[in-house]
Amino acid sequence: MNVLYVCTEVYPLLKTGGLADVSAALSAALRDLGCDVRLLLPGFAPIAAGFVAEGPRLKLSATGGPEIVRTLKPAPTLLPGRLSMTGQPAYLLDAPALYHRDGGPYLDAQGNDWPDNAQRFALLAWAAAGLGCGGDPSWRPDVVHAHDWHAGLAPLYLQQLAGSGPRPATVFTVHNLAYQGLFGPDTMAPLGLAPSLFRFDGVESHGHVSFMKAGLQFADAITTVSPRYAREIMTPEQGCGLDGVLRYRADQLTGILNGVDYAVWNPASDPLTPAAYDHDRLAGKALAKRDLQRLLGLAERPDALLFGAVTRLSEQKGLHLLPAVLDELVATGGQLVVLGSGDAGIEAAVAAAVARHPGQAVLRRGYDEALAHRIFAGADVVLVPSRFEPCGLTQLYALRYGALPLVHGVGGLADTVIDASAQALAAQTACGFVFHDFSPDGLRGAIRRAFDLYRRPVDWAAVQTHAMRLRFNWRDAAQAYLGLYRRLRPLPGTGRA
Ligand code: ADP
Repeated sequence: MNVLYVCTEVYPLLKTGGLADVSAALSAALRDLGCDVRLLLPGFAPIAAGFVAEGPRLKLSATGGPEIVRTLKPAPTLLPGRLSMTGQPAYLLDAPALYHRDGGPYLDAQGNDWPDNAQRFALLAWAAAGLGCGGDPSWRPDVVHAHDWHAGLAPLYLQQLAGSGPRPATVFTVHNLAYQGLFGPDTMAPLGLAPSLFRFDGVESHGHVSFMKAGLQFADAITTVSPRYAREIMTPEQGCGLDGVLRYRADQLTGILNGVDYAVWNPASDPLTPAAYDHDRLAGKALAKRDLQRLLGLAERPDALLFGAVTRLSEQKGLHLLPAVLDELVATGGQLVVLGSGDAGIEAAVAAAVARHPGQAVLRRGYDEALAHRIFAGADVVLVPSRFEPCGLTQLYALRYGALPLVHGVGGLADTVIDASAQALAAQTACGFVFHDFSPDGLRGAIRRAFDLYRRPVDWAAVQTHAMRLRFNWRDAAQAYLGLYRRLRPLPGTGRA
């Protein structure tokens, strides 16, 4: 089975969130099951730096597609090759004028969308379509698997390019429905899209061209990253305006839970933490806690219940609930470390709250992979109070490190964390704390219950041991994706595309 895996991030080369972890680990797990998976990635500078070209450059089809394929100088090309660190086969979409820029992959240094994002990511989708239609004479995919809005046009372009001829099946995975790739109607022509596609059953969504909608509308199958989120996004509350098309395509929508790369996230072998530990030898966790307190200038109190959060500071992640509960958290004997950056207003509110508690609470701004590992190792509880959460990886990492996740019961958080209720404690299935009322009061109630359990060391240890022994293996997820690929039959062309 040949699979073209179309995405914009891959750990460790370029990561803004969980998408990068998934791209690296899922593609590897599929390879372990015998799939010939090749990544297709935009040639962002950090990705290009970790890529080794092998074989001749490939041209992109200039018939149809976004006009930039014809106007960009030098013309964009595809480089076949490998990621140097992992050996993962990949294609690099080489267009330096589009992808070599200061700032992030999607936003400039000021945090604004790059103004030509429609063309930048349409080109990625067009390159995918070309590979799906024989653009590389030496390799042809059976499945084109596109990820998130950045690759959302790929199924549509593939149908256009293949016409009535054979084409690979297409899968579109939603990692986060909230980011949709919305552009003005005036982008239709430059993207090579016929005016007739600007309709509710095409790429139009609430007056915009939506790359996410295109993926949902034209892919043969849709997946998202947890079963619960798959159900939630079909409701008006969580559907981000796309619940209608998701309900329409419900028969093609499945939720497949993400996994954890335990080669990277394992306290028994983590080179980024001070001492190895596991559920049956926890001394290293106490050392990690002291190391973290020392590093961050927190009082070195082994008995403090240390809460951590490793997160984007966005409305989605629910960190705006934190300032209102911090005074009580500290007064009850807790400590807090937040690692994150993002929304300036949330950042300022969290900063102001922690400033009231020097030595007991700290905010580290920015993105820091090594510190993230030390927080999972050193914390007793990891906060993931997301308003919505497609899957969430940090609660899964926290479980493995014996930091009990405290989560809002939505999406993948609800699918993976079992609350320490009396029944679950008795059944020995509890692994964290779940609250349902998305408000400071809801969060406060769960924090109080975490303190209650911490005062009962035997119960705490039982929950922690169970949490650390849980496994969310990528192999299981990869098997589910492979089953889906095998069941797929490309839909006949609709004539509209
Ligand atoms: P999302 O993709 O919505 O941001 P996930 O929980 O799926 O959320 O994945 C987040 C990933 O990004 C995890 O690997 C997490 O450890 C990492 N991460 C998030 N914020 C930071 C940060 N400030 N520093 C280091 N790693 C971070």
